[in-house]
Amino acid sequence: MNVRQAPEFPEWPQYDGHEREGLIRALEQGQWWRMGGSEVDSFEREFAAFHGAPHALAVTNGTHALELALQVMGVGPGTEVIVPAFTFISSSQAAQRLGAVAVPVDVDPDTYNIDVAAAAAAVTPRTRVIMPVHMAGFLADMDALGKLSADTGVPLLQDAAHAHAARWQGKRVGEHGTVAAFSFQNGKLMTAGEGGAVLFPDSERYEAAFLRHSCGRPRTDRRYLHQVAGSNLRMNEFSAAVLRAQLGRLEGQIRTRQQRWAVLSPLLAQIDGIVPHRPDGRTDFPSHYMAMFRVPGIGEENRNALVDRLVAAGIPAFAAFRAIYRTDAFWETGAPDETVDQVAARCPNTEAISADCIWLHHRTLLAEEQALHRTAEIIADAVAAV
Ligand SMILES: *Cc1c(COP(=O)(O)O)cnc(C)c1O
Repeated sequence: MNVRQAPEFPEWPQYDGHEREGLIRALEQGQWWRMGGSEVDSFEREFAAFHGAPHALAVTNGTHALELALQVMGVGPGTEVIVPAFTFISSSQAAQRLGAVAVPVDVDPDTYNIDVAAAAAAVTPRTRVIMPVHMAGFLADMDALGKLSADTGVPLLQDAAHAHAARWQGKRVGEHGTVAAFSFQNGKLMTAGEGGAVLFPDSERYEAAFLRHSCGRPRTDRRYLHQVAGSNLRMNEFSAAVLRAQLGRLEGQIRTRQQRWAVLSPLLAQIDGIVPHRPDGRTDFPSHYMAMFRVPGIGEENRNALVDRLVAAGIPAFAAFRAIYRTDAFWETGAPDETVDQVAARCPNTEAISADCIWLHHRTLLAEEQALHRTAEIIADAVAAV
């Protein structure tokens, strides 16, 4: 293999004086929880408005955002939640933590998003929620999913952990009339290290979620009148102050990523054996949480070796998600009454993608164009060598 200089990529996360200022502002409030300060309230208003939703509730992390959203949507023991089989495990674990059954369905081989026909086939009288995950910040087919939801009466919960600011045919995540959950974990497109949020289209479920995220206690209660079962999922003031600064930088960074993906993806497409992510063009403002590509037929072992080669060459590359049903965690509680092989047999695309897909960290798409040309050269060399 040629020796090539490693390309330079910006660090992630990024910050400047705005985060620093926000942290000091939160510190000097003297009250560091949301009940005493104003940073969380302000962040919620700004995040909701940014996404075109009437309400946002900030929480501790994205996994808790999904759990809370599912809970106020009526998910609990005896119910089922349909999730894509190719996703980060939180999508299914959130349902399982509530005592529900997570039902994995296959994804599309090009978009890696939930296969709507497969979701339709999995609906039963026990289904309470269908959870599309907007893979890498390209929205799942919201037209077909909206129709499925209307036809079956089963509401959608968007797992938007990758989709801050993304738009489907001009519509922002908060404008689809459904609940949506976000993550602000360290690697996400905006971050406070940890954190999450839920968008609500209606005040009823928003208020229900507020109660449950604060130990079932009304905002102004001083008499320990816990009205519903809940937990403490409250975001702290420091995280919110950082996230307000991050939100201000989000759209500009996404525009850079869009421009860089337009450079990288045709370069990847020219490499023998590589098929770049081919998302649905109806996502007209993708957020590019990951730069993904497949090496069809490579096999899991060689794919992993390829990732190791890329990492050694200085590329922040990762093996794509393992199929959720191929983890031990999935089968511990709340799994469907099927075997692994039965689930795998109805999820052929997930089987293939989870073995042949690679993703690059979104900070690669913030690099200078020249770095992306070098990245493509390194990938071409590495693929030829495995
Ligand atoms: C990151 C992520 C989550 C969970 O978010 P955390 O904040 O890490 O708990 C949920 N779903 C998807 C698809 C994710 O990528």
